Amino acid sequence: MKKNIIDIIGLKNIIMIVFLICVFFPGIGFILYNNSSEALLQNIRQSLENRALDSSGMLEDIFKDKITSLKLIAENHDIKSMDWNRQKEELLSHIDTLKVKRCRIINKDGQSISTDGYATDVSDREYFKKAIKGDSNISDVLISRADGSKLVICATPIINQSKIVGALSYGIEYQVLSHLITSIKIGENGYTLLINNEGATVVHPEAGCDFSNVSIFESAKSDPSLIELAKLEKRMIKGEIGSGFFKQNNLKKFMAFAPVYGTQWYIALVVPEKEVFSLLISLKTKFIIVTISFIILAFSMLYLVLVYLSQIKKVHDLQKNADDNYRQMIEVTELDRLKTEFFSNLSHELRTPLNVILSTLQLFEQYIKGDIIQNKQKITKHTLAMKQNCFRLLRLINNLLDITRIDSGFFELRLQHIDIIKYIRDLMQSVHEYASNNGLSLEFTAELEEKFINCDIEKIERIMLNLLSNAIKFTSKGGSISVNVSTTLNNVIISVKDTGIGIPEDKQTVIFERFRQVERSFTRNYEGSGIGLSLVKSLIEMHKGKISIKSEIGVGSEFIVELPSNLDIGNYPIDELSTNQLINGQYTGKVKIELSELNRK
Ligand code: ADP
Repeated sequence: MKKNIIDIIGLKNIIMIVFLICVFFPGIGFILYNNSSEALLQNIRQSLENRALDSSGMLEDIFKDKITSLKLIAENHDIKSMDWNRQKEELLSHIDTLKVKRCRIINKDGQSISTDGYATDVSDREYFKKAIKGDSNISDVLISRADGSKLVICATPIINQSKIVGALSYGIEYQVLSHLITSIKIGENGYTLLINNEGATVVHPEAGCDFSNVSIFESAKSDPSLIELAKLEKRMIKGEIGSGFFKQNNLKKFMAFAPVYGTQWYIALVVPEKEVFSLLISLKTKFIIVTISFIILAFSMLYLVLVYLSQIKKVHDLQKNADDNYRQMIEVTELDRLKTEFFSNLSHELRTPLNVILSTLQLFEQYIKGDIIQNKQKITKHTLAMKQNCFRLLRLINNLLDITRIDSGFFELRLQHIDIIKYIRDLMQSVHEYASNNGLSLEFTAELEEKFINCDIEKIERIMLNLLSNAIKFTSKGGSISVNVSTTLNNVIISVKDTGIGIPEDKQTVIFERFRQVERSFTRNYEGSGIGLSLVKSLIEMHKGKISIKSEIGVGSEFIVELPSNLDIGNYPIDELSTNQLINGQYTGKVKIELSELNRK
């Protein structure tokens, strides 16, 4: 038969391939995607954190420069003199270079005067407190007391002969700082912001956001959407260089941050996640598309395989049906042939004795016309022949009736408890005459003197007479027939052995089938209907026994009957008849009928 693809690849392998496509490859893809997206994310994080660090460094440098130049001015003798007139002149000469509106001198008590003549008390300002302690510093964003503008103050101590005699300061306009911060751009929609160490926004270029003293931590208490941002800002204030995600106005954003050393500020670069991670998002989309395609492909394959399998199964079923039908057809044809053969045998079997009877009757008519007394001897001889042929007809009809009864289930056992050895021995004596008439010797042997079993004796008789009739029929003159009865633990074994023509090996089982005979050419045209052995087999099986055969052509045949010695009598009541009672006067008629075929030789 032509091999199909499933035979070649194997169902297991196909399932494995589907599994690989469905689970393994997307799994590998997922791991690869996960690893590469992790690496990509790490890379992006790192580069944005570096950008934040660079920006903070730039701010730091700018403020350092401013402090350095302020410190240089504070070194000047006129400044150190704390004589305002001298100081003012010196300071005015620097105003343009510093690009500031005014400079201010503060004495140790916090009283200050600026180059534009505005005097005020700054003793409460942080930058003054730090400067007077010797710490040059940059203040947070302050509101000027002179003109209300927003400023960031650079302040440095004035040291004369190792003593702090005052402080020097000037203000940087908030716009300068704001411009500086907003000029740091990332991507299309990214921005930079500055917060102070209280979590308040110093510079925020997003619409509406300006310097405010409101701490993010306070705002987060009333607005939960700010919690993520507040957490990040907490990390910023701790001085961490890092990054993280937060959500604002339903937009996921990424923030990288770093402290601006030398100030109380922290710079953060903010980018919408979509923008900075566009590569990652496209990678994710591609991965999902590829995975779904693989799964669709795998299921399509699986579907095709299943469709293919179901088609193959259908073809197999059809093929099996066709085979069954073919076998049935052969059986029916064979049965038909057997029936035809059987009817032809049957017709022959019916016609032969009838012919004999008819021609004998014609002879009788002649005798009646003549002298009956004179023909008495002939009439007696012919009456015997007629009787014989009537027995043949009776046997045939009995067999046919029994087969029909067995088939319809009306044939029942009538069990009796009898000595089977004695019964067979006596039966054999009735057959003796038939054997010797056919020039055969008949022998009976038994292992035991007696053996009582439960059996239907009428049926055992039919079995034995059938087997003996065949043995005599198929054994040539001078041959011998022996019957032996032996026992095993649970069985009685009856063997009927002859030295006849034997049965070919290929026919040894079919002869037990109904209407079967060995070819006539082989049996040298012995007659028969072919139902004797099938009836024997059915009768033995009714006793829960079995029959087997050993035979060799030209040597002889042995039929071995095994009967259970203790047949379960549950369904069958036993007739307690004695063996003697049964045997007395019972055989003669039956033996004549069963062996009626033998006298034709
Ligand atoms: P039949 O009425 O034709 O004898 P049986 O069923 O009794 O029917 O036997 C079937 C066939 O088995 C016989 O026709 C014969 O060919 C073969 N057979 C039966 N017994 C013997 C035997 N003892 N020796 C040789 N052939 C036998």
